[in-house]
Amino acid sequence: MRSRQQNTAVMTKNIKALFTLFSMVNADKSYETLLSRIQGDLVNASKKDSARLEIPKPQIIWVGQRTIFRNFMEFPKALRREPEKLLLYLNKELASAGYIAGERVFFLGRKEPSSFGALIERYVKDYVICPVCQSPDTRTEKVKKLGFLVCEACGARSSIKGNYA
Ligand SMILES: [Zn+2]
Repeated sequence: MRSRQQNTAVMTKNIKALFTLFSMVNADKSYETLLSRIQGDLVNASKKDSARLEIPKPQIIWVGQRTIFRNFMEFPKALRREPEKLLLYLNKELASAGYIAGERVFFLGRKEPSSFGALIERYVKDYVICPVCQSPDTRTEKVKKLGFLVCEACGARSSIKGNYA
């Protein structure tokens, strides 16, 4: 018969072996979890990449001496910016006084249709895209009249010029 001490020693040994086994199984599991998590992240990242900012195509027509930006309202929605701010920017760049009417904006005079796409592209670059990580998931903030672009992807805070976002 084994002594009590020996028994305890055997038991301790067994428990230790069991623990090792457990931690191995757990390690395996957590490795799998980690792997699937990483794979999930990768899928999400590529999804996000392909779903990057989709900028609509401006529909510009001339009616008499006016220029009508027919789908203007799609842009503030897509860029997540105030329509008034985007319009302020376009008015400044086009030296105009366009106004919103429903989904459209009316400008006086015949504006070059191709200039709208270019202006919006510049607006996106200056007021939407994070300059640090290039993410379009940003919002704007005002602190003491100074405008900031706050990135929801990397957290960067960048100053922006003017009152257009
Ligand atoms: Zn960023």
